[in-house]
Amino acid sequence: MSVELKGVVISPGVALGKVVLLDRFKTIVEKRRLNPALVESEKQRFLSAVEKSKEQVVFIREKLDPKETGDHVHILNFNIMMLEDEILCEEIVRTIESEQVNAEWAITSVLSRKSEAFKNVEDIYMKERLADIYYLGERILRNIRGIQDDIPDLGQDSVLVAHDISPVDLVAFAKHHAIGLATDVGGSTSHSAIVAKSLGIPAVMGLEDVMLKVSPGALIFIDGFKGIIIINPTEKELRECRKRLREYQALEKKLLTYASLPGKTIDGREVKVSANIEISDEVNLAVCYGAEGIGMYRTEFLFTSTVYFPTEEDQFEDYKKVISRFHQPHITIRTLDIGGDKFPVGMGPSKGLNPALGLRGIRFSLNDEKTFRTQVRAILRASEFGKVRILVPMVSNILEIREVKKIIEETAGELNSRNSVEVGVMIEIPSAAIMASEIAEEVDFLSIGTNDLIQYTLAVDRVNDHVSYLFTPFNPAVLRLIKGVIEMARAKGVPVSVCGEMAGQVSCVPLLVGMGVDELSMNVHAIPKVKKILNCITERESKEFVEQVLKLKTAVDVKDYVAHAIMEKWGAIIPGEFLQDMAAD
Ligand code: PEP
Ligand code: MG
Repeated sequence: MSVELKGVVISPGVALGKVVLLDRFKTIVEKRRLNPALVESEKQRFLSAVEKSKEQVVFIREKLDPKETGDHVHILNFNIMMLEDEILCEEIVRTIESEQVNAEWAITSVLSRKSEAFKNVEDIYMKERLADIYYLGERILRNIRGIQDDIPDLGQDSVLVAHDISPVDLVAFAKHHAIGLATDVGGSTSHSAIVAKSLGIPAVMGLEDVMLKVSPGALIFIDGFKGIIIINPTEKELRECRKRLREYQALEKKLLTYASLPGKTIDGREVKVSANIEISDEVNLAVCYGAEGIGMYRTEFLFTSTVYFPTEEDQFEDYKKVISRFHQPHITIRTLDIGGDKFPVGMGPSKGLNPALGLRGIRFSLNDEKTFRTQVRAILRASEFGKVRILVPMVSNILEIREVKKIIEETAGELNSRNSVEVGVMIEIPSAAIMASEIAEEVDFLSIGTNDLIQYTLAVDRVNDHVSYLFTPFNPAVLRLIKGVIEMARAKGVPVSVCGEMAGQVSCVPLLVGMGVDELSMNVHAIPKVKKILNCITERESKEFVEQVLKLKTAVDVKDYVAHAIMEKWGAIIPGEFLQDMAAD
């Protein structure tokens, strides 16, 4: 009998293959008191295991094609850096010395002290980074015990099933033909999730007990779009899975043929189609999928994936990498948007009951001016290598903008920089949307962050499943607000983009074009699709369409009208598979 499980959507794509179980049991450790004469050799035993672990990770990295870039390479480097982190090693060595205990015990007690300190922290980012330290701890323990770090040679079409998987193991398995991944635990911000996305491996996590429900060699289907897996599909299900796989492969191929289309409607209205990237290496994918610019580089990952905040030099090199690889009109670097529930390792969590309303985005940066000035310096220095725009998140009033501009001007003065860097703000808080006209007078461009704008306008927590049914761009209040912002920006002659998820939703493209948006910025995979839609519609009809939509009073009415009207107006030219996507929007 087949078993269908629903988990967390991690990495898009569809895979059908045979189960390979990854059974890395947690190493059991006992405490041994050492004869003082053996302390020195115990320290050496630990340090050699660290060295061996580093060699293993370096080996996995060296097996990659040198031309390969992407998050997985970045994360392998991060793991190597952690193994070189003297602070962590010193703490374990000190524990061996002061408590005169065996290395295994010292490792587990230092790590459990760290985990105890983070026990009540709700911040997902911090927890995920702690998970990385744990994976490395387990690797060191396996090396101390002399346990082989086996990566079985997988057959073609193998799907990995594990309780949990470290990012390093995932890269190694991917190079051994793993085509899909399903795990009991894990979330979308984990390094393993980012590696899966970077390598294009369809993945579903958070399946709770998938390990208990599969046996090695069983047939398994992974739907990374819906977060569903099917174990031992029946004959009928298998026919359906194979059909979905064929359709997916054909669609991917077809989509890439749209990548080179211009971002332009049939009647000649140019709408730039840009990429949102989370990590500098993604810029290659952005080029490959046809991005016409970087509409938003979210710099949070650079800050949350390391134990310490990156230095000015680290940031400069990273920004320069994006700018030098992408010879397009502009690279928009968004300043740090952490705070609230997003904190990097080593920093305290947000205090207060409403972190989304707390010290987040630009509020955090103005509160920690030193970190902000460092980031601005790095961006300004990198701007020598191409056209850079600075985008400021979570702005709620004009005083914040003036403060930011003053800091940018002072920093440019310190650097004797003669480059003029455009400064824009995210419109993602209703107060900023209402004041868009006055804000437009202060800045060079506006970018509407619909993810937060929807959250704050509708009072719907964007990560709370219980209220997710209310989270929709089709709510008339949201649409009116967006239309107002676009109109106000255009009246002041200031370009306006949309960079929230809405920009990449098929059925929202005619709406945003009809409202007069200049740029749509989205996850790289959505770019070819949006370009194709633009090439099927006209600005004139889109405007009429928006006029009708804005007369409607509920999100349900809007959604129905949009689906119906798109079919009627453009159903004959928009590719059929996109029309199916609209139902999911
Ligand atoms: C948004 O809020 O729409 C946005 C693009 O920013 P983020 O999703 O990073 O908060
Ligand atoms: Mg936002």
